[in-house]
Amino acid sequence: MITVLEKPVPFGGGVTLPPYKSMSLESDIVTAEIPSLLTLPLRQHIGIAAEPLVAPGDYVQTGQVIARSRGFVSAPIHASSSGIVREIADYEVPSPSHEVTSCIVIETDGKDNWIENNAQSMADYTSISPVKLQERIMQSGIVGLGGAGFPSGVKLIPGLNLDIELLLINAAECEPYISCDEALIRSHVNELITGVDILAHTLQVDACVIAIEENKTEAIEILRKGIDEHSASGIELKLISNLYPAGGERQLIKSITGVAVPADGLPVDIGVVCYNVGTVYAVKQAVVDDRPLVSRIVTVSGPGINKPCNMHVRIGTPMSALIEQCGGYSEDFEYLLMGGPMMGIRLHNDGVPIIKTSNCLLAAGQAFFNGKQEEQPCIRCDECASVCPAALQPQQLHWHSKVFNAERLQDFRLFDCIECGCCSYVCPSHIPLVEQYRLAKSSIWEQRRKQLESQESRTRYEIRQERERQRATAKTLQRDKRTGASDMERKQQEIAAAVNRVKQKREARDQG
Ligand code: SF4
Ligand code: SF4
Repeated sequence: MITVLEKPVPFGGGVTLPPYKSMSLESDIVTAEIPSLLTLPLRQHIGIAAEPLVAPGDYVQTGQVIARSRGFVSAPIHASSSGIVREIADYEVPSPSHEVTSCIVIETDGKDNWIENNAQSMADYTSISPVKLQERIMQSGIVGLGGAGFPSGVKLIPGLNLDIELLLINAAECEPYISCDEALIRSHVNELITGVDILAHTLQVDACVIAIEENKTEAIEILRKGIDEHSASGIELKLISNLYPAGGERQLIKSITGVAVPADGLPVDIGVVCYNVGTVYAVKQAVVDDRPLVSRIVTVSGPGINKPCNMHVRIGTPMSALIEQCGGYSEDFEYLLMGGPMMGIRLHNDGVPIIKTSNCLLAAGQAFFNGKQEEQPCIRCDECASVCPAALQPQQLHWHSKVFNAERLQDFRLFDCIECGCCSYVCPSHIPLVEQYRLAKSSIWEQRRKQLESQESRTRYEIRQERERQRATAKTLQRDKRTGASDMERKQQEIAAAVNRVKQKREARDQG
């Protein structure tokens, strides 16, 4: 049985980082302009890409389903504004490696015409069954907006969650610069509490906790007030340390319950379901307002941007349009990241679209964050191990990554690495450890993919061989059937023919 600890406990490891959040929290959330072209990738989440339901030339309305989910772990895509579908084609999406994927491109008409919906009103959600609420959340295209992008409805599947005892809302937002969740708390606390209540009702759990870092004093006050006003919700507010990565899902669960999620398991295995603040807000919009996920809050910040702020953005908007609305790049600008300075991915093209998981656009400057210093050899100081929240041995992973020893990397649990970047942050030799681990992981995946491919082609070859053998046997049987001869008969005929030949030879010799 899972219990909520009176006082959260340390999760093990972690580092203290400067927050750098105030610059984007100075103003209210800014509504970004709807661009003339929206590019909506069919895959914006963990799992299978959605399947298009529209064709070039179709008129679509805001909120209309334009691609349906395929399979269990998938999410539908909705038009984020009204207009004409211009094309369905491959376009670059946010990634460190110029990845392209199939996208639906909408030429907007500037009217933002919302689709009329005849769906059942769920404003009185307490009278709606959990199954129907789960269906609505699935159909609204909501995925984890904290960055992971797991389709949210999957965590609510009835039957899967029979033993859920705790609904944990992650308001920690522990990476520097990112402040979109805090901006949401400051501006929409009542909607957030309604969202938590909907999820608690859907999961049929009594224990609900919102966990937030203790240094977010303004947001804490607002949450306290909001919870007091909705005392029937039974939500508990827990303050956790502001040690990074306190907001990592596994670290948060450990702090709040004292229980570690098994390395090869999921929170659900210990009776916990965890949602991020942005996702909870999207759930409220889907259930109460019948609005699918067509927008999100994005932090645009960093020393390389002129006017940092939080923006309410339609999914599919080019990142360059947001940069422009934030006063453009400053003279200090060096490069662009999607996400925070610790776990974000470096982008090479700001024309890529905002997707469901884009929580932050970070414009780095010249003397950015931890700075870029020349790499030195490892001095075996063990600093990296002391801060690793996954209790790994980063220096061992470093050695085995350098020579790419896949077996040893897996012995040292490479795949338990959450890529938090704590080890790289403290390394006195400035070794880009996380980059090495990411590279090693993708090389192992590539190796596995090739192994799988060669196994598949071997199986295909064997199946082909077997089919040819069966075909040859069938042909022989058919021929025998036609001549009426069995194997035994054929052999007897062959022997008789041989005896005949010998006889004829003898007779010819005697006559001669
Ligand atoms: S912190 Fe850096 S130098 Fe120290 S052991 Fe780890 S990898 Fe080596
Ligand atoms: S990046 Fe991986 S190895 Fe490094 S501290 Fe984080 S979990 Fe540990």
